[in-house]
Amino acid sequence: MSAINLTTTLKHEQFIEQVSRESGQPVQQCYQCGKCTAGCPIAFSMDVPPNRVMRMVQLGLRETALSCNSIWLCAYCSTCSVRCPKNVNLAQVMDALRIIAGKEKRAKTARARHVELFNRNFLNSIRRYGRLHEFETMTMYNLKSGQPFKNADTGLYMLSRGKLKFLIQKTSQMDQVKQIFARVKELEEK
Ligand code: SF4
Ligand code: SF4
Repeated sequence: MSAINLTTTLKHEQFIEQVSRESGQPVQQCYQCGKCTAGCPIAFSMDVPPNRVMRMVQLGLRETALSCNSIWLCAYCSTCSVRCPKNVNLAQVMDALRIIAGKEKRAKTARARHVELFNRNFLNSIRRYGRLHEFETMTMYNLKSGQPFKNADTGLYMLSRGKLKFLIQKTSQMDQVKQIFARVKELEEK
């Protein structure tokens, strides 16, 4: 085996090992049956279907796996994980790929940036109020993503029907919410 091929093989193996460790999943167990993709509610909008993301991981294709949109669009709903006949928790593999890509500060596509922006707004709401304030979350998301009137008609209709709350209601257990966020930060910095 040439030196270049040996280096490439080592890099592939390192990536497989990294994803297995980060996700805690036996990624080589996947036998590509496709049941995960068949049940995934987001697969229609992914650039790479979930089972193929798994295959990329099994082959150690770091660049392809970490640069696809699918890892950011995955909603962590775990449908794939409960359907898998080999007990591979693919939702955790997707999460591990997001963590690795996030640590490497990889450039994201516009769609992936929007998903991240939505997630950040969602978490900010929970951090501040202990629960989701949907009206503020969606308004901030629209403003920050440069589409101020997106779904405005639906939002106004829901407000008029009392399905969206304008006033903010904080949970009475904010001290516990603060503790949860502090613990997550602690774990992230480890
Ligand atoms: S369902 Fe499980 S075994 Fe089948 S392709 Fe998906 S991850 Fe692999
Ligand atoms: S966890 Fe992600 S990949 Fe799995 S079914 Fe849900 S959206 Fe699809």
